[in-house]
Amino acid sequence: MPSILIATDCTSHVHLIVGHTPLASARATRSLELGARVKLLAPADAPLHYNLLQQISSGAVEWIQKDIVTREDLTTLGREEVMGVVDAVFVTLSVGCAQNAQISALCKKLRIPVNVADSPSLCSFTLLSTYTDGPLHIGITTSGRGCKLASRIRREIVSHLPPRLGETCDRFGRLRRRIWQEDYAAVDAGGEGVPAEEDEDLGQGAGFNKLVVENEEGWEERKGRRIRWLSQMCEYWPLERLCALGEGDVEGLLEGYKKGGDPVVHHAQSILPPLPTLPKQGKILLVGSGPGHPDLLTTAALNAITSADLILADKLVPPPVLALIPRRTPVHIARKFPGNADAAQEELLSLGLSALQSGKTVVRLKQGDPYIYGRGGEEYLFFSAKGYAPIVVPGITSALSAGMFAGIPLTHRGVSDQVLICTGTGRKGELPVWPEYVKGRTTVLLMALHRLGEVVEGLKSRGWGGDMGCAVVERASCGDQRVVRSTLGEVVAAVEEVGSRPPGLLVVGEACGVLRGVSEGKKWVVEEGFGGF
Ligand code: SAH
Repeated sequence: MPSILIATDCTSHVHLIVGHTPLASARATRSLELGARVKLLAPADAPLHYNLLQQISSGAVEWIQKDIVTREDLTTLGREEVMGVVDAVFVTLSVGCAQNAQISALCKKLRIPVNVADSPSLCSFTLLSTYTDGPLHIGITTSGRGCKLASRIRREIVSHLPPRLGETCDRFGRLRRRIWQEDYAAVDAGGEGVPAEEDEDLGQGAGFNKLVVENEEGWEERKGRRIRWLSQMCEYWPLERLCALGEGDVEGLLEGYKKGGDPVVHHAQSILPPLPTLPKQGKILLVGSGPGHPDLLTTAALNAITSADLILADKLVPPPVLALIPRRTPVHIARKFPGNADAAQEELLSLGLSALQSGKTVVRLKQGDPYIYGRGGEEYLFFSAKGYAPIVVPGITSALSAGMFAGIPLTHRGVSDQVLICTGTGRKGELPVWPEYVKGRTTVLLMALHRLGEVVEGLKSRGWGGDMGCAVVERASCGDQRVVRSTLGEVVAAVEEVGSRPPGLLVVGEACGVLRGVSEGKKWVVEEGFGGF
């Protein structure tokens, strides 16, 4: 049986979300966006998704620390106006969980709309795959036949829509209201029987095409003419033409209406400016995702991630950043492994290109900053040559931030007034030209730890002393960040002992000892963990 599709205004409704997984987090975020109040029911010791923890600490989400949902919860956690009954329940527990059926049955008895993840038979409502552009909402359901398919269909439909359709809806709504006001003002003098503004779309009866006789216009006649006029515009104008309407055109149309003109004729006479050609253009963004912690993404990067049609990510982009990608957005992660880097890169570029050619918005997500050893420039040239010049969104580079997370100010008055970023790996894995020792300069070497012995030898050959302070910073800003503080003379032994935890880099120079050093008599110190912000 088909279902009725309903758009519900959730402002200030109470949504009860049961569970603590990324899905619970996604639900919470969506409910908050819709203006609902979110209460999360999960055990006190539940390992809450990172995003949920944040929403709780900011006060956006209230955490009800309980293991089991009871009837009392369902009938007391809600709004006062509805006597404490919650407005909707979203269960995000795992599929086999016994609570699923119990909560569903309770909700159904209490007539509370309930959605149980991946269990259509337990749901009293399901969620649509939606697209939103201002006042325009498009929702797709396959009635439980597959939400991935629904989202594919949605994307397909959306990719065929003319641009700025949401704006068009707004503009049309304004025109409609202006015409109503016009008629209202015209008959108000006579006064009687003029109703409040109503939804006239429903009123298109058999008289739709009836000719309206002049000099007979009371409220009802005007209403008929108004509906006919607006309907003709909706029905007969090409959608592209509607979308090309500007704010100024609204006034022109209103004049046309007042003079009793026909909107179809109005269109045919091309009073409006010629249609701009607006085919859906593929768009690509090269986006830097920062060194690891998701808080280090820029807002521009986050917006790009959440609005992409396709994400092409580097292998290095860490899981907490990938977790921000909407669940339905396809993601391809470069299959880079030693010896396959070029092939993986080519695969990525050709995937990107074909998505662009079909009008998609592609986000090429790169670790750190796209232009610091990220092949970002090469990708820029590649896509530009094909006619799609990328928009580049910078990211915080590990080269400049890893030292900071290890307590090393890369410049420090009287100690270091230069920073050099270089690599331990040249083209095709060759040895690079090693940077010479310059007093007052901090040197940061990326892609250098797999051959640390050679790096140290190389540096020594260029004037660096064995007692120069250095630090190996690995997985900077990630939960398992590790810093090994040592000297050039000892660092190889230190890393041999503690092992490696890629990605990591080497910072060398006097600045390494400014804030924290290696205590007397020790050859190195190891510091574990990253405390967050
Ligand atoms: N575009 C990236 C760098 C890519 S090259 C950026 O701007 O950060 C890959 C190298 O970056 C790794 O070999 C490592 O040296 C360094 N790197 C990347 N992320 C890192 C991190 N979180 N901590 C330490 N080094 C990192």
